[in-house]
Amino acid sequence: KKLGIALVGLGGYAGGQLAPALQQTKNCYLAGLVTGTPEKAKTWSAKYNIPQKNIYNYKNFDSIASNKDIDIVYVVLPVSMHKEFTIRAAAAGKHVICEKPMALNAAECREMIAACKKHNRLLSIGYRLHFEPHNMEMMRLGQKQIFGKVTALDTGNGFKYGGDPNAWRLKKALSGGGALMDMGIYSIQGSRYTLGQEPIAVKATQEKTNPVLFKEVDETIFWELKFPGGAKVTGKSSYNNNWSYLKATATKGNFELGPAFGYDGLDGKINGKPMQIPNINQQAAQMDDFATCVNLKKQSRVPGEEGLKDMKIIDAIYRSLNTGKWEQIG
Ligand code: NAD
Repeated sequence: KKLGIALVGLGGYAGGQLAPALQQTKNCYLAGLVTGTPEKAKTWSAKYNIPQKNIYNYKNFDSIASNKDIDIVYVVLPVSMHKEFTIRAAAAGKHVICEKPMALNAAECREMIAACKKHNRLLSIGYRLHFEPHNMEMMRLGQKQIFGKVTALDTGNGFKYGGDPNAWRLKKALSGGGALMDMGIYSIQGSRYTLGQEPIAVKATQEKTNPVLFKEVDETIFWELKFPGGAKVTGKSSYNNNWSYLKATATKGNFELGPAFGYDGLDGKINGKPMQIPNINQQAAQMDDFATCVNLKKQSRVPGEEGLKDMKIIDAIYRSLNTGKWEQIG
């Protein structure tokens, strides 16, 4: 069955990436909208041919429970709203995809996982790169130790923030944090899926060149992760630098991506030679995979637990910034 997805929050990512991707998906389609803005409901319903009965606002959202057209709710809101809408969607009997970062902290992630378990609904995080061929190649090369054990990994992700100084991304109560939560999470993921291991401790430092714009949230953070295999793993996130790379050095070779984490134009090298892997529509692949999981009643390869793992690391990075010490993860 082709499953119906309702997008909650019709902002930049929903409008720029997810709705267009849902025109290419094979196992699911854009069936519903949840928005607090009546004008957006109007323009979106005309553009994507969504019937009025499948349009909700944040107040009447729970009545989506009785709507047979909607199988999956996709939460694309500011981070502070992820927990509430994930739990409300599961309580309404819908399977859930929640955008990254999963929530404000690991404690919220645990509540979301528990709620979806309780209502017997599948939960997945919007980790599109698990379905992206260049990043999947990094997983294969690293995890299968094609060039031996990975001994060192360096990664960074960031962009020069030129947006609205009043945006939710810069308000701690809404975002939970700055570039680390928004961009660094990709580098943390990349480290984990290239090594195929979970880090045990982290030490971090930060730099702020614009304390006015980044009054509430982190601008640039540098970290080192301790992995059980002993690889030296360094990473960084920024709202003041255009970074997007993931570089692994193994005992018998090296492999890297750059740009590593964008929507398109990703590229990579294996021992200095181009990977020559095509780019695909990542969001379409991600949503089609989740629809298949729902149809087969099978856990996604990026379940809530995967979001929780990253949030535990992010929580530890923020603790380390405060203590100036190595912090255990968990
Ligand atoms: P955005 O600001 O463009 O959109 C946010 C939406 O939430 C808007 O439609 C806004 O109207 C709505 N909203 C409801 N209550 C709000 C409030 N109190 N304050 C502000 N907005 C409110 O943000 P976005 O870039 O679309 O990000 C949304 C989510 O998607 C975030 O979790 C973000 O990290 C994630 N995201 C993921 C990717 C990815 O590649 N996976 C890319 C971009 C964004």
